Amino acid sequence: MPLDRKSAPNDLRAFWMPFTANRQFKSAPRMLVAAKDMHYTTSDGRQILDGTAGLWCCNAGHCRPKITEAVQAQVAEMDYAPAFQMGHPLAFELANRIVDIAPDGIEHVFYCNSGSEAVDTALKIALAYHRARGDSARTRLIGRERGYHGVGFGGISVGGIVNNRRFFGSLLTGVDHLPHTHLPENAFTKGQPEHGANLADELERIIALHGAETIAAVIVEPMAGSTGVLLPPKGYLKRLREITQKHGILLIFDEVITGFGRLGSPFAAQHFDVIPDMITCAKGLTNGVIPMGAVLTTAQIHDAFMQGPEHVIELFHGYTYSGNPVACAAGLATLDTYAEDGLLTRAADLETYWQEALHGLKGLPHVVDIRNMGLIGAVELAPMEGQPGKRAFDVFVKAFEAGIMIRITGDIIAMSPPLIISKEQIDELVGTLAEVLRQAG
Ligand code: PLP
Repeated sequence: MPLDRKSAPNDLRAFWMPFTANRQFKSAPRMLVAAKDMHYTTSDGRQILDGTAGLWCCNAGHCRPKITEAVQAQVAEMDYAPAFQMGHPLAFELANRIVDIAPDGIEHVFYCNSGSEAVDTALKIALAYHRARGDSARTRLIGRERGYHGVGFGGISVGGIVNNRRFFGSLLTGVDHLPHTHLPENAFTKGQPEHGANLADELERIIALHGAETIAAVIVEPMAGSTGVLLPPKGYLKRLREITQKHGILLIFDEVITGFGRLGSPFAAQHFDVIPDMITCAKGLTNGVIPMGAVLTTAQIHDAFMQGPEHVIELFHGYTYSGNPVACAAGLATLDTYAEDGLLTRAADLETYWQEALHGLKGLPHVVDIRNMGLIGAVELAPMEGQPGKRAFDVFVKAFEAGIMIRITGDIIAMSPPLIISKEQIDELVGTLAEVLRQAG
């Protein structure tokens, strides 16, 4: 019997779900069976307004025809081609198209399959880059408290989310962390916070402690998404760039969330006018349709590897699915869709409307902060006494029942709708959340 994809399966035991409260989910499943544009359809036939672009990835909305058709055609034409010592045209074409929209100075693309792999790839390139230049004492990596860089060992080492680190042992060494940028005096700021640029100077302290000659790279999210939408204070990223440049340390922007239009520019680097040495991206690269990630680098980094005998592999790194043809087809069709619909800058046009809608939630029960930028926002709730995360989790479940999909991290509600959202849908999303917050109060 073929599986009926539109109805809920009745045996949920085998699938150990990622980043999920498995027992709660399996006792009351939230099952999605179809999607189109701004909406999901549930197994009981309800329409859910997508307030999170899936997992911050479906920037053009769901089941966009051009992307669907490109994937269907490519999977029939050439399903797979080896990525090592062989090539296919789409991988080269997509790399050029990514470079075209990337910040000036970013000229090369290394493919992988996810944000986590992009981060681990970038960290490895940073280490190997210094070594290729004979600077092999530079092995230390600097991340930031509350940073999220995926779940590989590299990513959780430089990451700063406690629960993503604490269970996983002793491999997380050789790193240090900048302080996070979440300051109480910035609460309820509309857009970029005023206070905290000086937190970047903590890097000077870390450099003084370890010695610049031991530090390979600093990695930060230009805007920290998964930890609950923490925005960079004005001037902070420029200061980080100045300090890293002064000390010969590479700066990596993890743009897995901010890449592909989330803040109103193709990349956050352009939005903040700060060009790092490497950018990691994934998610919106293929509109979430086929797994794909990438590390974007300057010519300086790439060219440092292009030496020695020509038949010798320059970087001992790569994945079976690096530049997978179907993913490349999805990526190209995604970039076409973004261009045709003006989506890489649409968040800038909607930012004020989004901001005013979100900040209208101020004063509702337990709301202790609201943050926004581009088409991303967070509503932070006061935790329940002795039960951190419970209040936001209850709101998340109620919101789903009321027809909207939001994300939570701890007691922070995060929203990052597809960049095709209309003003009416912003009103619906925020209005429904307001109702849920009032009832939960
Ligand atoms: N880096 C950042 C900034 C992210 O937000 C994420 C995922 O949300 C990742 C890395 C990990 O990406 P993935 O889940 O594709 O491995």
